[in-house]
Amino acid sequence: MKKFLLVFSLFFLEILVVQTAVAQKGKYVLVIHGGAGTILKSQMTPEKEKAYNEGLNAALAKGQAVLEKGGTALDAVEATVRVLEDNPLFNSGKGAVFTNEGKNELDAAIMDGKTLGAGSVAGVTTIRNPITAARAVMEKSPHVMMAGTGAEKFAAQQGLEIVDPSYFFTEERWKGLQRARQLDSLEQIKKTDSLSKKHAALLKQPENRDYKYGTVGAVALDKQGNLAAATSTGGMTNKKYGRIGDAPIIGAGTYANNKTVAISGTGWGEYFIRLVMAKTISDMMEYGKLGLKQASDEMVMKQLPALGGDGGLIAVDKNGNVAMPFCTEGMYRGYVKEGGEKVVKIYKE
Ligand code: ASP
Repeated sequence: MKKFLLVFSLFFLEILVVQTAVAQKGKYVLVIHGGAGTILKSQMTPEKEKAYNEGLNAALAKGQAVLEKGGTALDAVEATVRVLEDNPLFNSGKGAVFTNEGKNELDAAIMDGKTLGAGSVAGVTTIRNPITAARAVMEKSPHVMMAGTGAEKFAAQQGLEIVDPSYFFTEERWKGLQRARQLDSLEQIKKTDSLSKKHAALLKQPENRDYKYGTVGAVALDKQGNLAAATSTGGMTNKKYGRIGDAPIIGAGTYANNKTVAISGTGWGEYFIRLVMAKTISDMMEYGKLGLKQASDEMVMKQLPALGGDGGLIAVDKNGNVAMPFCTEGMYRGYVKEGGEKVVKIYKE
């Protein structure tokens, strides 16, 4: 009898294990960011905080609806990033930061972890939703990256929405450029001359130390077990003409591979490019057999500041594990998992 009971219970245990394994495979995850930087609670009004939370929640809801229905990770990240691009609070699409010349030059990339297909656009000024243009480059052209007027011409040919550059103007970002210009000239003066007390204090204010970040991104794992990543940005305030950041560089600010992880970065792009941030994390996982947390913490919390940069990233691995490390004061971020687990956060814990 004892033996019978043992076999019987082992049989049920096995069924349970098999069922759990199947359920795991069908579980989706969506993670987003709205930029990392000096985001301090002391600098935030309750209204502003509410607006950011609403913006992040709206983006999560859009992508979640796609994944819930069994849609692809690729569709989910594109739809999510489009919501953030249309929201003037974030530095991408409408609400993008200004270059030193007073223009908005946008970068975006998307990558499909299933096929390693990738597309990106850089330095575009008239495409309303650069992330959709990046996807068109991936799917409708033989290329991976297109820049400037060529990318704009291609987007128009693909029937994407083209807008006047003035569409991207926001008062807030314009003021940001004036502030950045003033701070830059103070930095220049400081190199050769002493600053007045007032000006020296201005440079030291935490919110003035990095006024530049705010990229948006999304990564997802769909019910079929496929990963995808998308990033879109106006880049860094006061950047020079023609400067391209990490967001549209595959392997730097954006990367997805079904074997490992999907990643979207935000922060000081030059450092993300030099560290080949996203692909290095993927390699550490694939060849170094590190876990997601270990690999992403090593790169974001150690290697990035060690080189002099800062920022953060969002990641989801092939098993649905989420990481959102950043070495700045804050990062607009959040995730939603099948079954309803949802998190939206702004500040450092
Ligand atoms: N990484 C972006 C860039 O350097 C900026 C950001 O994340 O806000 O273009």
